[in-house]
Amino acid sequence: MRKNCLVIIRLCLVIVFAGILSYTSWSQKQKFKAIAFYTTTVERDHVNFARDVLHFFSYISAKDHFSIDSTTQWENMTDDYLKNYQLVIWVNEFPHNEVQRNAFRKYMEHGGAWLGFHVSGYNDKETQWPWFVDFLGGAVFHNNNWPPLRAKLIVDDRNHPVTKHVPASFISPINEWYQWKPSPRLNKDVHVLVSLDSSNYPLGKKDIIRDGDLPVVWTNTKYKMLYMNMGHGDLVMSDSTQNRMIEDAVLWLGERKK
Ligand code: ZN
Repeated sequence: MRKNCLVIIRLCLVIVFAGILSYTSWSQKQKFKAIAFYTTTVERDHVNFARDVLHFFSYISAKDHFSIDSTTQWENMTDDYLKNYQLVIWVNEFPHNEVQRNAFRKYMEHGGAWLGFHVSGYNDKETQWPWFVDFLGGAVFHNNNWPPLRAKLIVDDRNHPVTKHVPASFISPINEWYQWKPSPRLNKDVHVLVSLDSSNYPLGKKDIIRDGDLPVVWTNTKYKMLYMNMGHGDLVMSDSTQNRMIEDAVLWLGERKK
């Protein structure tokens, strides 16, 4: 009887050690860890995009060997929490209080990486976060088209890791496009990767973007960051060309060294 017990204990130990070993080799294979913050308490089109892009992240994380967590708890935006991740993603929301904002700023100023979609870059007089406006390259929300529409986009730099797999121009699925004033392109530290083509103007019916510069994807080269205008509705993730650009953006940011 005692001998049987010992055999069972030994078997259990073998199973536990095998589990630890396989977990260790799994975690070593992960190139980086990303965390996506999103919310479900905003307009339906913004929540739908969050659902779709999180599903996409889950799919590419297995293929590209990184790990992705997601949370609607913005109070997790603390030093202790963020230090576990090489990439922070904001899906259609941004932090509203000082504690979360300061933790994010510290994270970015110490080599963290950020990818923001659509509303994540939104700011106006009410936002009261000048550091974030600088971080975006000076972009302040100016106007948008309504209803959401497809648009022809022009790739400004096809040699960049984020845009190397997309053609010189492509039609982006239905989205609400944000225009910025001043345009972040005027900032010498900003590198614009994709812009809205002027052939789209006038864009919209109820709200019309009539003319002017409209950068869609850009990075402020002082940080490891990238902003993408896309993020409105359940068709944004329906285009494989654009999805490839989003995948390359995640990999570029997640794998960049400090
Ligand atoms: Zn929107």
